[in-house]
Parts: sequence; structure tokens; C-alpha cells
Amino acid sequence: MSDSLAPESPTVRAFDATVTRVDGRSVTLDETYFYPEGGGQPADRGVLGGVDVEHVRTDADGAVVHDLAADPGFGVGDEVTGVVDDDFRTYCMRAHTASHVLYGAGRRIFDDLGYGGFDISAEKVRVDFETSTEVDDDALVELERLVNRAVWDSREVSWEEIPVAEAREREEIAFNVKTEEGVFADADEVRVVSIDGWDWAACGGTHVSNTVEIGPVEVLGRSNPGEGLTRVEFAVGPSAVDRRAEVRASAYEAARALGTNLDGLGESAAGTAAAREELESELADLKSEVLRARLADFETVERDGLTWNVGAVSGFDANEVGEAAKEARDGADADVFVAVGESDAPFVVVASAGDAAAGDVVAEVTDEFGGGGGGGPTFAQGGGLGAPADEVLAYLRD
Ligand SMILES: [Zn+2]
Repeated sequence: MSDSLAPESPTVRAFDATVTRVDGRSVTLDETYFYPEGGGQPADRGVLGGVDVEHVRTDADGAVVHDLAADPGFGVGDEVTGVVDDDFRTYCMRAHTASHVLYGAGRRIFDDLGYGGFDISAEKVRVDFETSTEVDDDALVELERLVNRAVWDSREVSWEEIPVAEAREREEIAFNVKTEEGVFADADEVRVVSIDGWDWAACGGTHVSNTVEIGPVEVLGRSNPGEGLTRVEFAVGPSAVDRRAEVRASAYEAARALGTNLDGLGESAAGTAAAREELESELADLKSEVLRARLADFETVERDGLTWNVGAVSGFDANEVGEAAKEARDGADADVFVAVGESDAPFVVVASAGDAAAGDVVAEVTDEFGGGGGGGPTFAQGGGLGAPADEVLAYLRD
């Protein structure tokens, strides 16, 4: 088995090695500094013997296999030069170490914390926390603050192999048996990555040697991928810087719109929301007052020995009119209340004391003018009438 030397020597970017196996475009070396995909960290990119490396993986026998983009011009026994893509590896080291720093921040603010795994992509990193603590906005803000503070504090990052039994006894060491399976492959030793005074984790990835190398970290958000799990996503490097600028720009925009500054933004937004709620409630009261007054003005007609109040309303939807008609029926002497709503497709609402079935009245109207609807003896409504409200009203008066 030829383990990758990348976790032990993460700063090596170029090396020479001897080819031990070639299978099509898949190449194995006597030793390699390419990192194979695993434990949440993506495979390195780079060039091997002049050919682009498309993927790096660990095969079933534990050998590191380099999958090339083209057929190699070399064979078994040849010495080749490998060059690990510096930008991507450096990003992975920073992002990976940032995930440990984030977990360390979680230790300081979450109860009963467990490690649920992590994953690095080119744009963002996610860490899954196993915790019963609700990770609210304040917790996210505090996580981000603690992480960036730990970066500024320039804490030393180190790694060592220790006996598994010893690692299991040290309670501060975070394990994830799912993603760190490879760490236990040898069964007698485990690799522990320590951030001085901050975090300790069993991990086989590549890391920077001091937290200050991580640079700015920006929390992007949270989600719940499963029971008892909270996923926190964050960005490092250029995408963190860009995200920070976006957040600041929208905060300024919001402050401008509210006529305040960043410090007053929260209070001003809360005040505006409360005022709007109050206005909406006042408006709803006024609208129903207008609607009640309109219904009280309805014309009274006699039909089949019953008193009908009929009229048109506009500016209200069928549900609003329906509620008002029921109220008017309950409070008036009329036997039947019929309101015709003026809109692109006029509607009719009927509230009856029961002597004339409301559903029958709606059926009569829709038979005459089209549309559809229905209801029971005391309340019914129809919509999509094919005639203007005036015409429907004239029909109802006769
Ligand atoms: Zn790690």
C-alpha cells in the first residue's frame, strides 16, 4: 500500500517518482504527493509526466491511482515528475483547516456537540454539527466571529500519529467514523490534527501549519440535512471576500432605503415592519367598514313575497364580500342578500335567511349568465359571469 505523502508534507508541490503500474490512463507511483479524494476533501489537480491529472483516488487495495486526461507517454519503471496544482491545493488546505477552526468554535457555543462530517467544493465548505442546540442567527454570527478571531490569533496547526486507544481516551478529539474511515485503516494508529488550544480531530487531509494562513472566513448559512444535524456552510478566500462585499452592499442599500445608518438598521427595520403591520390592520378595518356601508345601501326589492337586498360592489374579492354579506344577512331584516362583484369576471354572492335557497339563486344566475359556483341554502357564491354587474343586477330585480 502506498499512502499519499500529501497529508504529512502538504507544502510539497513538485516531486519525482517511479512508475509502478500503468493501466490505460491510470497510473500508480512508488510514492506520491498528490492527495486522493477522501474524507470530504477533493482530489488534487496537476500534471504527471507532462499529462494533466484528471482525478486521484485510492483503489480497493489502498493504492493511490492517478487518472490522466490522456494516454501517458511513459511506462512502468520510468521516473516521472509530478506537479500538484498550487492554487487548488492551497485553497483546499485553507478551507480544510477552516473547517476544523469552525468546529472548534462550535465547541465553545454548542451543547452536546458531535462531528457529523464535512465537504469541500471549489466555492464553499460545509460542516455538519451534531447538536441539540438550535443554531439561530445569533449563533451563526458568533461562529463567524470566533472563527475569524482564531484565524487572527495565529494558532499553530500540527499533526501526529498516535495509538488509536490513546486517541479514544482523549475526549477532546473529534471523530467521524463515516468520513474518517481511512484514518482507522491501519487500526493501531490514528492521525490527529491539533489546532493549538482550539481543536483536535482525527483527520487524514491536508492542512496549513498556522490558522493565520486561512485568511477571511464568511459564514454563508445553515440548513438541517437530518435529525439532530445542523449544516453550516462557509466560504474562504476570494469567495468569502466577495460575499462580504455583497452583504455590506445590501446592508447599505437597506439603510439608505430606511433613512438610517448601519448601526440603526436593525431597529429601523423592526420599527418599519411594526408600523406596516399596524397600517395593514387599519386598512383592513377601513375596507370592511366601507364594504358594510355599501351593503347597507343596497336596494330593497320584493320577490316572491320575500325581501331581497341587491346591489353591486367593486374593489373587493368574493371572499371579503361573502363574509360581509353573511354579517349583513344576520343583522338585517332582509330575507336574501345578493351582492354582485364588479371585476373582469363578475361574481355573485348570496346570503339567505333560508326561505329562498342561496344555492338555487346562484344556479339561476349562472344558468342565465354563464360561469360556475354553488353552495347551500344559506350561503352560496358563483364566479366568472359572462355579463357586466349592471345586467346581472337588472335581472335580479325583476
Ligand atoms: Zn482535517
